[in-house]
Amino acid sequence: MGGASLLKETGPREVFCGLTSIVWLHRRMPDAFFLVVGSRTCAHLIQSAAGVMIFAEPRFGTAILEEKDLAGLADAHDELDRVVNELLARRPEIRTLFLVGSCPSEVIKLDLARVAERLNGKLNGSVRVINYSGSGIETTFTQGEDGALRALVPLMPSSSVKQLLLVGTMANVVEDRFVTLFKRLGIDQVESFPPRKSTDLPSIGPETQVLLVQPFLTDTARALKDRGANIIQAPFPLGVEGSSLWMKAAATAFNINSSLVDSILEPLVLRAQKALQTHKEKLNGKKLFLLPESQLEIPLARFLHRECGMDLIEVGTPYLNRDMMNSEILLLPENTQIVEGQHVEKQLDRVREHQPDLVVCGMGLANPLEAEGISTKWSIELVFSPIHGIDQAADLAELFARPLHRHDLLNQKLLAHS
Ligand code: SF4
Repeated sequence: MGGASLLKETGPREVFCGLTSIVWLHRRMPDAFFLVVGSRTCAHLIQSAAGVMIFAEPRFGTAILEEKDLAGLADAHDELDRVVNELLARRPEIRTLFLVGSCPSEVIKLDLARVAERLNGKLNGSVRVINYSGSGIETTFTQGEDGALRALVPLMPSSSVKQLLLVGTMANVVEDRFVTLFKRLGIDQVESFPPRKSTDLPSIGPETQVLLVQPFLTDTARALKDRGANIIQAPFPLGVEGSSLWMKAAATAFNINSSLVDSILEPLVLRAQKALQTHKEKLNGKKLFLLPESQLEIPLARFLHRECGMDLIEVGTPYLNRDMMNSEILLLPENTQIVEGQHVEKQLDRVREHQPDLVVCGMGLANPLEAEGISTKWSIELVFSPIHGIDQAADLAELFARPLHRHDLLNQKLLAHS
């Protein structure tokens, strides 16, 4: 595993659950609806995570399991059918209905696959019903997207077209930029998964080269491979270096001349490196501690160390898929401490012992750490921000420089008033 050392930890965890991913998935596919089958807690989580969106025309909701359902006293199947019928009568524009499982639905062993199968039979193709789990039992929040995409893979049509498939939700502007760049490289057939319309699923087959945009799609990648696709091994498109290597790996898979690739990427790289400079000055030499939550931690650590000069104290990750992360780990400095899993108390003890300048962590841990004078960055912010690609490297660095600026300003104010 390169020069990095790996520690595994288990114990109390402090992460968001997979329901959170509905917030970015429903923006990506506006013709889909996400119906959480869960408790009032699940409804509160999704409403607060989505903020003001709930006051617009919401494209997600919760079928609440009441106590009598949980005690097995009522037939949750009948109740769910009633909720779905009412929803589809009220919202005829819905084309794909995701039934999203939760901790409560899993605890009572509600078989959502069976529910989806029955509803698909009834709806006769007018709406597609798909189920996946967003439960927080032993999972972290980005696995929600992995579950949703994995559930869509069997519905993708087969094809033998030579194509590049970008996999993982990204901002539409970022996607447009990638498609333009790949076309300039000579890759004309570029599709994205998930698509912008839930019914426009891309095709898949032995001539499909898959390039993962997000590092947390282990199950989806496996399912795409089972459909014959090749998964391109590359670092992830975060930062100038990661994005360049990511694009170059795709170009190699399509036998594109490397000097053509260099000539197209070089001006972008020079411009992005210049834009990075200001943030690099702020981040250089600062100590960074990443607590495990989003599965973006390893690519972020690589970017923040190699391009912004930060010192890595510890790189936590909820799960480590070595095959998918190999190209990233090889770029980390010798003796980087990677910790897979979580024992939140032990990790917080190490944070306090090392007194890092910046901790990347979940929202639940950020406030207590800030109260102790340690600057933090919420890891969840990274899945809501357009951070992928060479052009976005400076914006990505700024997300980490901002809390350090704020920390300095607060200290200056405190000094002025002392
Ligand atoms: S799915 Fe589980 S962890 Fe997520 S809000 Fe519902 S009860 Fe909580």
